Amino acid sequence: MGNSNSTAVGTCLSNAVGGNNASLAFPSKLLYQLTDVKPYNLDIPVTPAAVTYPESADQVAAIIKCAAKSNLKVQARCGGHSYGNYGIGGVSGAVVVDLKNLQQFSMDTTTWTATIGGGTLLADVTKRLHNAGGRAMAHGTCPQVGLGGHATIGGLGPTSRMWGSALDHVEEVQVVLANSSIIRASEIENPDVFFALKGAGASFGVITEFKVRTEPEPGEAVRYSYSFDAGTTTEKAKAFKDWQSLISDPGLSRKFASEVVIFELGMIVSGTFFGSKAEFDALNISSKLPQSDSVSITVFNDWLGLVSHWAEDVALQIAGGIPSAFYSKSLAFRPSDIIPSSGVDSLFEFLDTADKGTALWFAIFDLEGGAINDVPMDATAYAHRDALFYLQTYAVDIGRVSTTTRNFVNGINQVIANALPNVQFGAYAGYVDPELPNGQRAYWGSNLPRLEQIKRAIDPNDVFHNPQSVQPAAS
Ligand SMILES: Cc1cc2nc3c(=O)[nH]c(=O)nc-3n(C[C@H](O)[C@H](O)[C@H](O)COP(=O)(O)OP(=O)(O)OC[C@H]3O[C@@H](n4cnc5c(N)ncnc54)[C@H](O)[C@@H]3O)c2cc1C
Repeated sequence: MGNSNSTAVGTCLSNAVGGNNASLAFPSKLLYQLTDVKPYNLDIPVTPAAVTYPESADQVAAIIKCAAKSNLKVQARCGGHSYGNYGIGGVSGAVVVDLKNLQQFSMDTTTWTATIGGGTLLADVTKRLHNAGGRAMAHGTCPQVGLGGHATIGGLGPTSRMWGSALDHVEEVQVVLANSSIIRASEIENPDVFFALKGAGASFGVITEFKVRTEPEPGEAVRYSYSFDAGTTTEKAKAFKDWQSLISDPGLSRKFASEVVIFELGMIVSGTFFGSKAEFDALNISSKLPQSDSVSITVFNDWLGLVSHWAEDVALQIAGGIPSAFYSKSLAFRPSDIIPSSGVDSLFEFLDTADKGTALWFAIFDLEGGAINDVPMDATAYAHRDALFYLQTYAVDIGRVSTTTRNFVNGINQVIANALPNVQFGAYAGYVDPELPNGQRAYWGSNLPRLEQIKRAIDPNDVFHNPQSVQPAAS
């Protein structure tokens, strides 16, 4: 950006936030990286052109107008938990629209539809819904993640098999588009925009307000965990094979959520059952898994207590809410992509023997399906309506991510690709992987061509951009 352009955009942005200089930061500001940029992934350095803190949809619109006029890219930031730092642009030079001031909340107690500001973190979503009549919605387990980046990408959590993904709760939004118009989108109003925002939101606008369907909080729930810490490679592989058979049962209850976390110190099969202890016991899960080293079964009758317990998950302890240098990849498995027995053996052999350098790592297999997959593939941009489970691999390094760590994470996917050579794996856009070749195809699959058409219609100059955002279709 030349000097005169940078002065012009600076003045324009300052006017956009009503001349309030506290609502604006530029690279010249002391401690800009620490106080305003705040990258989540320390392995991906990014210096935005400006970080803005609008207080209304009108201010968001004015900011977007300034950026577009100066040919600058724009990304919204809500919780700032993008693996690729996409909330700050993913590469240097973007204008960041930090939505932390958009915290409006209300509940319509006739329809139980909640209106939630576009800058709300999941911890506050949980609390505000609880206080507004004991209501809840599906979302992931990290309290510091933002609804803005979550309900525009997917939003998969323990209740998703019962209620769908976070974005399946969204019934209407207020959004600011690239031409700086403030519109509402729903299945009836601007349905193409609505389709695009539900899975590929970052490429299409800044959502300033969500209207979401809510559910009564679940009553009694059982949190279970079976540890296989002391097992040999073969024993852990056997436990994984048993888990895979368990979750492949098409009749498996939707009240049953489950994950396998494999890490340096062992392996844990855990999850939540949204029903009574008696119902859980009747499932007889322990008979479907090998003898474990330790079993923990806890009954919860209070929703907030259960949600806090999720945040103590071992994987979250490693990934956590704190910025670090890490590398992560994901794979989506359909029911036909069950890893064959020999492939599971190779995977556990690799996990036990590969060089991991200094990395703290985990591989997490997350059961999905259920209500998420009731929604047709082409109903929303989110394109993995046929996924039964996901694998997420994640490795945190000291300083920058080393080649050894990167090779380890890539190696896990390679072992699985070798075991399932004919599978074209999709990836979850919520776990963005900036190094994934053709990421758009892996994230949005068969919905990509329609998304590219919508992009051409509403953001032909690609204002809303990150390194893997949807590109406008060629004319
Ligand atoms: C520790 C941890 C745990 C996680 N656990 C889960 C989980 O259990 N389940 C799951 O599904 N995912 C999970 N995720 C992934 C998470 O859902 C995504 O990283 C999500 O995109 C983060 O949203 P954010 O608002 O925090 O991030 P941001 O960096 O603020 O935003 C991410 C992307 O969304 C865009 N965006 C943000 N707000 C808006 C808005 N209002 N309008 C339009 N675009 C917007 C940004 O521009 C950016 O491109 C986890 C991530 C972390 C780091």
